[in-house]
Amino acid sequence: MQKYDYLIVGSGLFGSVFAHEAKKKGKTCLVIDKRKHLGGNIYCENVDGINVHKYGPHIFHTNDKYIWDYVNQFAEFNNYINSPVSLSKGKLYNLPFNMNTFYQLWGTKTPEEAKVIIDNQVKKYGCKNPKNLEEQALSLIGKDVYETLIKEYTEKQWGKKAKELPSFIIKRLPIRYTFNNNYFNDKYQGIPIGGYNKIITGLLTGIDTKVNIDYFNNKEKLTNLANKIVFTGKIDEFYNYQYGSLEYRSLRFENKRLEKVNHQGNAVMNFNDSDIPYTRIIEHKHFEFGKQKHTIITKEFSEKWTKEKEAYYPINNDENQKIYQKYKELSIKDSNIIFGGRLAEYKYYDMHQIVASALSKVKLEFS
Ligand code: FAD
Ligand code: UDP
Repeated sequence: MQKYDYLIVGSGLFGSVFAHEAKKKGKTCLVIDKRKHLGGNIYCENVDGINVHKYGPHIFHTNDKYIWDYVNQFAEFNNYINSPVSLSKGKLYNLPFNMNTFYQLWGTKTPEEAKVIIDNQVKKYGCKNPKNLEEQALSLIGKDVYETLIKEYTEKQWGKKAKELPSFIIKRLPIRYTFNNNYFNDKYQGIPIGGYNKIITGLLTGIDTKVNIDYFNNKEKLTNLANKIVFTGKIDEFYNYQYGSLEYRSLRFENKRLEKVNHQGNAVMNFNDSDIPYTRIIEHKHFEFGKQKHTIITKEFSEKWTKEKEAYYPINNDENQKIYQKYKELSIKDSNIIFGGRLAEYKYYDMHQIVASALSKVKLEFS
């Protein structure tokens, strides 16, 4: 077996960007993945002509022109703008929280009218130093929006009370006093035409890859294949859970082909109510403005993570952060291993942040 400069564990966006850049520097890489395909969570499966986002809806967005140009090297992006709607107690509301949402909730027609209601509720229910997601939401947007569109969705999504979750999670969502349903504030946004696999294929062209290989099933042999390792799996698993297991949230996806052109009129529909077992339904064709005679939908169920399941979200509350810090300290001493990505850094990264983080690790490595 050839000896590589880098063994890259995980072919998601982090591992693939790292491999691509290392190759440009003249280094050899072997990228392995335990799944049966490359691409990690951005992988798309073409089912009957529709690109199905196999691991949940992925919309690329960034404010950084450098990152936008970087991904545009590998695929052309369309002009899709994410504008989810949320069903709550039988009524539909626009997201993120904006003048349309406020009109749907209260009938307010001007920013002043909406602001009066929100300011009153924030004064009554909010606080100066919000310490958890519930306090943060009440302090930003008040009780009605929190109870109609946040509380039940959040508790279903995370399997925890909103009071037990970190406040930063809800700050991901914009609040606007304009009639603008764009879920993101970023300057650049879109979906790669033809799906995300084009990006992975572009990144990994000319690089050795192997799928269906779990690093932990053959750790010693695989480690000996390279001078250095880039690890993008779970950091606690890497260290054999010696400080205990970090908490993650898992997901289950139920896909269905429907013999109709248009099921829900939107790519993403959220379901706030706790008695509906899934958090959202994705209708994939709308990401690429598909005109097929059929459609494919995915119900997304949020599930408790156990060691046999895929970990999708880190749960970054204080307890887990403390455990993560211990693993991080170990990882700093392991100078022959680069830890990167959502699972190895235990961070709620979006794709643009992953690209930026991989590029900065590359810069450090090759400077
Ligand atoms: P991953 O894509 O998870 O890749 C890690 C890879 O490592 C996996 O393929 C895994 O199989 C492999 N691996 C792990 N352990 C081992 C092992 N022991 N041996 C071999 N291989 C291993 N971001 C956005 O910007 N916009 C969005 O709209 C968006 N939507 C999302 C929706 C959902 C439901 C989820 C879960 C994430 C979403 N994201 C979104 C975030 C985005 O998926 C991540 O930022 C990005 O894909 C993470 O890349 P990564 O390389 O760190 O991890
Ligand atoms: N959220 C919510 N209601 C919604 C959508 C999101 O309360 O209809 C909250 C929820 O806590 C979620 C967080 O906002 O986890 C971040 O939402 P985002 O859409 O960014 O989540 P992701 O796409 O990463 O699952």
